[in-house]
Amino acid sequence: MKVWCRKLFKSRHQTNEIIDALTKGIAVYETLRTYNGKPFAIEEHYRRLCKSLGYLKINPPTYEEFEKLIYDNLSERIRVVYVYDGRLLSYVFQESTENFTVDYVKIDFTNVRRAGPSSIPPDLKSLGRPDIYLARLTKGDNYDVLLLGSKGQLCEGTFSNVFLLKGGRFVTPSLDSGILDGITRMYVIRFLKEKGYTVEERFVEPCEVFYADEVFLTHTSRGIVPVHQVGTLKTISTSLSEKLAKEFEEYIKCLL
Ligand code: PLP
Repeated sequence: MKVWCRKLFKSRHQTNEIIDALTKGIAVYETLRTYNGKPFAIEEHYRRLCKSLGYLKINPPTYEEFEKLIYDNLSERIRVVYVYDGRLLSYVFQESTENFTVDYVKIDFTNVRRAGPSSIPPDLKSLGRPDIYLARLTKGDNYDVLLLGSKGQLCEGTFSNVFLLKGGRFVTPSLDSGILDGITRMYVIRFLKEKGYTVEERFVEPCEVFYADEVFLTHTSRGIVPVHQVGTLKTISTSLSEKLAKEFEEYIKCLL
């Protein structure tokens, strides 16, 4: 059972200024996780935010401003949103992951395609990305749904990246498949390689998901999420993924 405890919406700006800006402008965001009170991968989140703002030709906040916003609003999970309509406004959601457990993860494919990189850069992390939003509408009782790209290649979930275990090797869609450069994905690749595993980043055929020995998702809020079921196929093992999920949490804490 998923429980997000939304604690606080904080802004240095008036709510009506933000609503006004939202109706005329655009918003980009980053979600960060803290471990033992320390925000994880703050520099990577800042770099990705700058990239999103760069696509929109918006001057980013300084690293110091971004860092201050995070440290002034520390909680287990922080969503920082920047809204722009000529000037940059910020607000933050502080959320708790208390009671945030998931026992059985079912995913499926959605028939909504990921927008091609030549029309919308996949790493433009804006609110209400239409392809992602439409895909979410098809989620039903799935934990997440996987989107394919315009060439039929496997891309990612609506809020997660995907990894397959095949004969002792890991496979994940490459960045040029048209995916968000997930920060957890990047750390998981590093973690797996340090553990001696081979990780292939390449174009992945959707059918490979059904032939995988194990499948897991990655995203900031939960790290590695083992998948128990893809569509009606319930036979997926999670034994290595469960072990890696626990080890990854420890790995991250050691990096802080
Ligand atoms: N893919 C998409 C489309 C996302 O929106 C997200 C996160 O919001 C991810 C992947 C996972 O990225 P991260 O590991 O940085 O949370």
